[in-house]
Amino acid sequence: MVDTQLVRRGIRSSNVLAAMRKVDRADFLCDSEKRFAYNDEPQPIGFGQTISQPFIVALMTEMLELNSDDIVLEVGVGSGYQTAILLELVSKVYGVERIHALSLRATKILLENYKGRFHIATADGTLGFPLQNKIFINFFDACLVAAAAPQIPSALISQLKPEGRMIIPVGDRYSQELVLVRKLKDGRIDKSYVDAVRFVPLVGKEGFH
Ligand code: SAH
Repeated sequence: MVDTQLVRRGIRSSNVLAAMRKVDRADFLCDSEKRFAYNDEPQPIGFGQTISQPFIVALMTEMLELNSDDIVLEVGVGSGYQTAILLELVSKVYGVERIHALSLRATKILLENYKGRFHIATADGTLGFPLQNKIFINFFDACLVAAAAPQIPSALISQLKPEGRMIIPVGDRYSQELVLVRKLKDGRIDKSYVDAVRFVPLVGKEGFH
């Protein structure tokens, strides 16, 4: 999977490739889906949601240029696979998932290897990490959004530190552009286009309704 789907398509970061080799995608799939674990496509995880394609997970992770002491906000935890990749690279991940059964399932799997280094909340992630909202203003070094947003939610920008990075698919329900956002020192944002993608919708107050 790593050689044919990631290296060949230009994923270069040795840390990201090592994480993708170490974390077994099959661990995050239901039994009936495990045989498709290394396929070059998303797979269903129930509730109409999908685990992202391995290449997209690697690409989004690479674009964030993560450091080992970073604290990352992830919106749309789903299976928890992307969370595990992030946890291989950074110190802490705060995840938000709107479907409680998926939050519970991901938490259970992630506890095996990453106990004490992640928090997963069931909430509307378009509003940022929910608990004690004010504490999280200018808090995160990076933010990864794994569902399609109609625009960049303002709460996610405000929870990002100055000089923080965010990767987010922005567009309509059917097709999106992966956008890399940088919050500048003065709070303004700088955006660059990465690739054309297709994600399930981000459903929430600053998402789709
Ligand atoms: N990275 C995940 C992707 C899961 S699909 C994986 O590879 O498994 C996107 C997820 O975003 C779904 O689980 C969906 O329930 C969740 N989601 C959609 N809108 C959301 C919102 N407003 N807040 C939090 N999670 C949301």
